[in-house]
Parts: sequence; structure tokens; C-alpha cells
Amino acid sequence: MTTSVALAVDLGGTKTALGIIDPSGVVLHRTKIPTLAQIGGTKLAQHTADEVAKLADYAREQGWEPVGVGVGSAGVIGMDGAVITAANVITDWSGVPLAAIVAEGTGLPTYAINDVHGHALGEAWQGASQNVSTSLMVAFGTGVGGSFIVDGSPLRGAHSLAGHVGHFSSPWAVGIDCPCGGIGHVEAVAAGPGIVRTYFRIGGVSNCNTLIDLKKLAESGDVNAREAIAIGARAAGIALGDLATILDPHLLVVSGGVTNLGDAWWHQLREAYAQATLGQAKETPITIATLGSDAPLLGAARLIPDFTS
Ligand SMILES: [Zn+2]
Repeated sequence: MTTSVALAVDLGGTKTALGIIDPSGVVLHRTKIPTLAQIGGTKLAQHTADEVAKLADYAREQGWEPVGVGVGSAGVIGMDGAVITAANVITDWSGVPLAAIVAEGTGLPTYAINDVHGHALGEAWQGASQNVSTSLMVAFGTGVGGSFIVDGSPLRGAHSLAGHVGHFSSPWAVGIDCPCGGIGHVEAVAAGPGIVRTYFRIGGVSNCNTLIDLKKLAESGDVNAREAIAIGARAAGIALGDLATILDPHLLVVSGGVTNLGDAWWHQLREAYAQATLGQAKETPITIATLGSDAPLLGAARLIPDFTS
């Protein structure tokens, strides 16, 4: 019997991961290519379609039958799989009919979604949140994004904007510019680059370009490094607490590179969470995402109707 497979794509600002997924959630094959982020949005979509077509050929050589393509991508992605808006990481990405271009280039039905929603979908299918009916995943990385999953589907909202949990006000970010163009948002102090900027804003003077640098400085006793991490953690904890009070999910899943800041970050996040949250939501478990870079691929595969078992 031929195995039906999904072709999954996780299209980020610098790298694009591709995978072949079976209906039970096993990743049969993985590959990674650089994202040609500067060649123009339509050309990038066509290049991605070419890569997926090659992957489809590879799958058929293995005796697998590709039944569809799922794409998780940076940007706000509409229900029709087109990019509605995107940050400037990918040149001219806004307006590109991503799913339609990949469908045309591969001859396969194609579905696309924002990458954070894709990540959360993967965790809800096979990972940290597979046993609960509602979960909120928040990723603290180069930005802050999230996804509220209800019965296996992400809440996408009226404009596919739902999940922008990095862009509401934080008491730790008052007056501070956010990468979105707004002022005072969570992402400005709780994302990785925001935490590094906080270090310099509060008086840090050592060489510090990345979170790894910052963690080393904190471990060597730099008080400004410790405070920058604390501010990021508290901002993250309050944001999670506010969201848990509003949405009351069964589980909170935290992911992203900022989680590697270690115990100090986690401890202060949990403390701030408990202070911010109302009632029984104080007891809502907070856990770390478990699938790593497979999560967005699995989530993308999950987009294909009737594919998964
Ligand atoms: Zn913002």
C-alpha cells in the first residue's frame, strides 16, 4: 500500500525547512535551504514551489504519494494562503498569493498559515499541548508571537491577525519603541533583541550582541545583564498572566530562543505570571514546547484537510 504523505514547509526570514510527514505525524525526511529573502516576494514563492516540487519527486521515488502541501510562513497569512502583511525581513512579501503560487508550481493542493500558528498547531497535534482542548503558545524569540488553539485549530480572527501577543502594552515597556512601529509593547522588552537593547538602555557597557553574550555577562555578575533578563522575564510573565486571565487556556506553552536564558528567566517569569493572573488561572500549567524545529513542519502538514490520522 502506498503511504500518503504531506509536504511541509517552514519559511522563515533566513532559512526554509522542508519536510515529508506521514499521516501519523512521523517526519520521514527533512531538508533545509537558505531563504532568498531579498529576491522579491513573488520570486521567493516561485523558488519555494520549485523546491517543493523537487521534494515531491523525491517522495515519489521512495514510493510515497504526496497529497498536499502545507506552508508556515513569516507574516500575516490570510485564510486563502496569501500574505496579507509582513515585516521587512522578506522583500515585497506583502500581497504575494503564496499558497496559490506553490499549488501552481507543484500541482498539489496547498495551504498556508502564519509560522507561529503553524508551530502551535504542531505542538497541539504531537507535542506539549496534545492532551488538552485549549492551549496558548507564546514564542519569545527575535519577536514575540502566539497562537490560541481551540480543539486543534488556531484562532485566526477576523483579519488573520489573532496571535499578535507581542503587540499589546506592557508596564515594563512604557515609552519604548517596538519593532512594529508602535510604542510600549511586550515585544520591545521581552523578545531577544529587546532584552539586549534593555541592557544598554539601563547602563550596560560591556560588549553584548546576542542573548548568549548577555547570559554570560549575567553569570559573571554583571548587574545590568541580570536586570535586563529580569525585565524581559517579568514582561513575559505579566503578558502570559494577562492572556491567561482573558483566554483561560488549559495549558500555556512557551517556546523560542529566549527560553535558553535559563533558570533566572523562568523563575522571574513564573513569579510575574502568578502576580498578574486572576483566580484559578494562577494554577494553569506553564510548560516548554517539546518538538523544536519539527513543530512548524507538523503544524503545516496538519493544515491539509483529512490528511492526518
Ligand atoms: Zn509592537
